[in-house]
Order: sequence, then C-alpha cells, then structure tokens
Amino acid sequence: MTPKKVLWQALSVCCLALPAFSFAQSVEKGPIVVQGAMPIEAEHFAARLDNPKEEQIGGWRFWRGTIDGYPVVVSETLKGMSNSAAATAIAATQFKPAAFINQGTAGGHDPALNVYDIVLGKYSVNLGAFKTPHKLKGEGSDSTQWKPMDLLASKGSAGEDKNPHTIRKFPADPQLLSVAESVKGTYGKGKVVQGGIGSADIWDSELDRISHFHNEYQTSAEEMETASAAQVAAQFNVPFIGIRVLSNNITNNGKYDPKTGLACQDYVYQVVKAYIAKIESAKK
Ligand code: SAH
Repeated sequence: MTPKKVLWQALSVCCLALPAFSFAQSVEKGPIVVQGAMPIEAEHFAARLDNPKEEQIGGWRFWRGTIDGYPVVVSETLKGMSNSAAATAIAATQFKPAAFINQGTAGGHDPALNVYDIVLGKYSVNLGAFKTPHKLKGEGSDSTQWKPMDLLASKGSAGEDKNPHTIRKFPADPQLLSVAESVKGTYGKGKVVQGGIGSADIWDSELDRISHFHNEYQTSAEEMETASAAQVAAQFNVPFIGIRVLSNNITNNGKYDPKTGLACQDYVYQVVKAYIAKIESAKK
C-alpha cells in the first residue's frame, strides 16, 4: 500500500470510530438524573431503583441508586420554574450527571392528543417570558399580543431588545431523543409523539391563549418545569430531554387523571434502561 493509502485508511477508521468513542467519553460514569416535580411524579420511579438511598439537599429530595448496575439519581424538583432550575443546578454540581430526563404530567395544547399520550420534547420553550405592547389606561390586556422575550440573548434591557420576536427553543439532546423514540413500542396506554413543550408558572385554561401557543410556538403540551431545567442543564453542558404525559387536555375535554404520572415514569424507566444499554455498548 502506498503511504497515501495507509493514511487514508487510518483516517477513515478514526472517523468511523469517533461518534461511538465521543458518546462513551461524554457519558462516562456520571449518573442519569430523572426529575419529577411532585411526589406522584418521582416516588414511583425512586421505588424502582436498586439499593436506593434518600438524600435531602436544601428543600429537595434525591434518591441515589442503580438500574442494571448503572448509577441513576431520582430528583424531586418540586413544582414550578424556580424549583426546577434550582434542583437542576444542585444535581449538576453534586452528581456531575451524564444526562437529565425531566418527566411528569402536562396539559394538552394539541386537540389530536389524548390523556395518557406521551410527548417526547423535541424542544421546550418558556411560556412566561414575554414583552407586552404599549397600551394606554383603559385599553385592556390581551396576552396573545405579547412577544417572546429572550432572557439569554440580550446584554442590555430585555424590554428594549430589538431582536426579532422568535422564541428561544431549548432542544433535546439528539441521542436521548432517539433512545426515547426507540422504546415507543413498549407503551400500551396511548400514543408517543415528538413535540414542543411549553413551560411557565401558569396553568392555562383559556382556549384562545392555548391555541395561540400551539399555532405560534408549536407547543404540544404545557407544564411548569421543563424549559427552566433545560436552560440550566445547557449551562452545565449536560444532555437533556423532557418527556411528558398528558394528564389533562381542555382542548378536547380530556379530564385530569393523576395516575398518568405513574405511566410516564414507567415509560421513562424503559428509556433509562435503553440509554444505559447504549452507554455500556459504546464503552466496549
Ligand atoms: N392542580 C393544581 C396545580 C398544580 S401544578 C392547582 O390547580 O392548584 C401542576 C403540576 O402538574 C406542575 O408541576 C406542572 O408541571 C404539571 N401540569 C399538569 N398539567 C398542567 C397544565 N395544564 N398546566 C400547567 N401545568 C400542568
């Protein structure tokens, strides 16, 4: 073989091996952190860990254990954007995780989705960060006229920001998304779809506002934690995905069912097992 051919062969072997190698490197040893806001969204998963040990840090509960011999931490984030941001920062610094999976219940924005359907969050958006138009006294307020405010982009006043009014999307990690998609066949309680997740410290029951979000930002569902956890996970460079089950959907009269939270944890358990299998096979 000519020296040129040898070099070419060596290069192609390197390039082929690189994706698996860098995946194994990036996820080595760190636990997978599974987040749930409420006790009914976290305790069921914690009970499925092998050798779980409960730990309290500040106001937040964590359970450290293993699944298939791999470390997994369940984190009860508590409800809302501030709680989930804080719990994510604590987990990132305390446990140096390989990945975050934020999961739990959500309200449907898409009339084609039913209670028990699961949304794999392709991305999440903050539905609590907006600028209102200027209106005079007596002119009222209409939240569908509000424009997204990007809390990350502007160095100056967010209110004076002249950036185009596109909403910031926090994307799912592609590997986590494809693993989450790969276990679809295990779920018998509803559909599993990819979609946008909208988060805010707000429970929306105005149908016009919900269809505005669905049309403008392609939100499939809303809840109160994913976008803030995603924002913080990105600051720590930790792969992230949000996975949410519809517990209610007022766009098609889907009544609230808290048991959906258990179904979501069972689905995420399959995702975690598949992700661990991927990590272990990439190490070989
Ligand atoms: N039902 C309570 C609200 C609890 S907060 C009340 O009326 O006081 C609801 C929790 O479930 C949050 O952690 C949020 O992430 C999730 N959730 C489920 N459905 C939701 C919806 N339609 N809108 C917002 N959050 C929702």
